[in-house]
Amino acid sequence: MTEDCVFCGIIDGEIPGHIVHETDEVVAFLDAEPVSKGHTLVVPRQHVETIYGADDMEYLWTETVNVANAIRTCFGPEGMNLQQNTGEAAGQEVDHLHIHLTPRYTGDEVELSYDRSELGNGEELAEELSTYMR
Ligand code: AMP
Repeated sequence: MTEDCVFCGIIDGEIPGHIVHETDEVVAFLDAEPVSKGHTLVVPRQHVETIYGADDMEYLWTETVNVANAIRTCFGPEGMNLQQNTGEAAGQEVDHLHIHLTPRYTGDEVELSYDRSELGNGEELAEELSTYMR
């Protein structure tokens, strides 16, 4: 538990949340301001702020897939967006790692808008990045 963390508060039962799934390591609850019906956050109990702290959290992926399947069975969306915002520049508002599962329905008006560019120097970039891989 980290003081002043709203997600730690929900995990510890001190702040109300609509919890849909719990394991020893993960809690999933409905987003309070859902983008679509069934929008759910999958959250590790351990307080780490960002994806960079998640290198030993394989269970987070396992439970994300588990929750995604439950949403699919329950609400029957035609698609699903997964989103993880790390850092203010990426739009992170709550500094406790979480994965958004946003069900998508044909004809919904959810907009994910990106301006894309051309990958000009892919070979150089890939080579540079690959040298940092563990
Ligand atoms: P992010 O921008 O990835 O940090 O997203 C934070 C998400 O947490 C937003 O979608 C909020 O709607 C959601 N959120 C914030 N407070 C609560 C809360 N008390 N219960 C459930 N969801 C929350």
